[in-house]
Amino acid sequence: MRNRSQKPRVKPPGVFSRLASAVCGRTQRLIQAGDALPLVVATYPRQNSWFASELSDALRLTFPALPNRITYSYGDALARVPSVVVADLRSSNSCTCLGHHHPTVIHSRLTRALQADTGGRIGEIDLAVGAIRKWNPLPLAGLAAACNDDGPESFEEIRFHAALLAVFLHELEHVAYPERPEAEVRMRSNSFFVDAVGELLGIEFGLASGMPGPLTVEHRHLALA
Ligand SMILES: [Zn+2]
Ligand SMILES: [Zn+2]
Repeated sequence: MRNRSQKPRVKPPGVFSRLASAVCGRTQRLIQAGDALPLVVATYPRQNSWFASELSDALRLTFPALPNRITYSYGDALARVPSVVVADLRSSNSCTCLGHHHPTVIHSRLTRALQADTGGRIGEIDLAVGAIRKWNPLPLAGLAAACNDDGPESFEEIRFHAALLAVFLHELEHVAYPERPEAEVRMRSNSFFVDAVGELLGIEFGLASGMPGPLTVEHRHLALA
């Protein structure tokens, strides 16, 4: 496993101030979520700052709350991804996918500028944050009734943050292993999502095992690329 501290690090403030004004109608936010995850440069429409706030919460609060037995399946991919990843946050994708990884040949101007500035490898993905918020696989709907809203996080927030994390990690796995088949990558992110929701419900609402029995996430609803 590579030592993340040995990778080239971007110097955010200088690079950032020069790039921020170059991307019309959009703004950027840095999300630093500790050594396990890459530094994320979130770029999003100015009027939708909640896209970045929710991703930040998912990466900085939800991810560390999960035990190693759930996050370990992404250990190898996270060790291989670039130390900086640009995440293009949008409401939805016209193809209905919840996210994509972007091969180098279609990297945005922002990513290319960061790459030129730092000399390091930069990854790029997009996340359809609005669509991810609405995404609600049927088997989860019944669980909402078992959860009251007394906790700091509601059932909806837990589901949303787990889904954001699952899509984020799914796309990072594609960045780390571009040759890996979609079915394999999707199976891992589906399992992660189900396990994460179960664990977080257990933490928040004291449900003994989180999920009431086996849960099948319908793949056709989890449209990822
Ligand atoms: Zn797509
Ligand atoms: Zn995929």
